[in-house]
Amino acid sequence: MSNDILVLAEHDGQAVSDITFELLGAARRLASGSGGQVAVALVGGAGLTGTLGAASTVYVVDGTSGAIYSPEVFEKAFLGVLKEADPRLVLTGTSTMGIDVAGALSVAWPAPVVSYVVGLEAEGTELVATSQIYGGKLMAEVAIGGPHAICAVIAGSFPADAGRSDGTPEVREVAVAGLDSARTTPRGVHEPDTSGVDIAAAEVLVSVGRGIGGKENLEVVQELADALGAPLAASRPITDQGWLPKPQQVGKSGKKVKPRAYLAFGISGAPEHLEGMRDAELIIACNTDPNAPIFDVAHYGTTADLFDLAPELAEKLGS
Ligand SMILES: Cc1cc2nc3c(=O)[nH]c(=O)nc-3n(C[C@H](O)[C@H](O)[C@H](O)COP(=O)(O)OP(=O)(O)OC[C@H]3O[C@@H](n4cnc5c(N)ncnc54)[C@H](O)[C@@H]3O)c2cc1C
Repeated sequence: MSNDILVLAEHDGQAVSDITFELLGAARRLASGSGGQVAVALVGGAGLTGTLGAASTVYVVDGTSGAIYSPEVFEKAFLGVLKEADPRLVLTGTSTMGIDVAGALSVAWPAPVVSYVVGLEAEGTELVATSQIYGGKLMAEVAIGGPHAICAVIAGSFPADAGRSDGTPEVREVAVAGLDSARTTPRGVHEPDTSGVDIAAAEVLVSVGRGIGGKENLEVVQELADALGAPLAASRPITDQGWLPKPQQVGKSGKKVKPRAYLAFGISGAPEHLEGMRDAELIIACNTDPNAPIFDVAHYGTTADLFDLAPELAEKLGS
């Protein structure tokens, strides 16, 4: 049985995603203890092999250099690499791609999947994954036996810098049959309308949740955001109802943000929201419910009513 670890690379065609570097760092740590090698499977993403120096081998699937992500083609391509590389462990993200391909590969390879992983440790010859269940309300420790396994890891669980290296991996081309007989053909990629707001790049975010009550009340927090020179961000109910555009959503199905300051108004702190903002340097929460879980991650908190606090802060900052 090999001790090798294979990371399924994610990219947007231009750059490799942070989750891939996180996985590479974790893979190197685990492999160094077990004498295994770290490899990457790259489908699409021509020209990106040079950024994957933390791996000793990059498997590039022939004929996919310009491929846009599609579950059908990527599953087949990754399966071809798995058969060639025969790793002990496959690491992918709990992301759109990872969720798609982990299940399919689990059946086709075959191997068990542990998803929503936030920790991975070697205990002797065994691997132990810590994984979120019930949306992160509980953690499960899963011992992984058997010759093969797949882990889908939540973004932000490991440091991405540990997976960046200017090493020179060996590049191996893998020919996979049947990639041109897919029944689905991606036509292109459309960027959502961001209205010029990039919450992931902002140093300060004023974020608003269902406590705001209605779209007409957003003005209250918008004035504070303007006074701070910060964009507005939101929890999912706000974007689901179309009160703010989807690209301004923070969380599991939105964006992961790490601003210097995150001001949360009327946000309860559900695990899916915390997943996107808990790494902010400073978290200040305003919620009338003293038991709201947002206070578990907040550095400062107040049970003031947001309709009192936000205008007063805006006035003080504006004057
Ligand atoms: C697969 C999946 C993915 C998800 N992805 C995301 C995601 O990406 N992002 C996300 O945010 N959620 C996500 N969710 C939804 C998540 O589970 C929660 O439902 C959501 O985060 C709750 O949003 P909220 O905190 O704004 O609303 P609520 O939970 O309703 O909280 C509103 C809070 O406002 C407080 N409040 C009310 N009035 C006031 C006032 N006047 N002043 C101050 N405080 C007040 C209340 O005490 C309450 O705590 C996801 C769920 C699933 C199942």
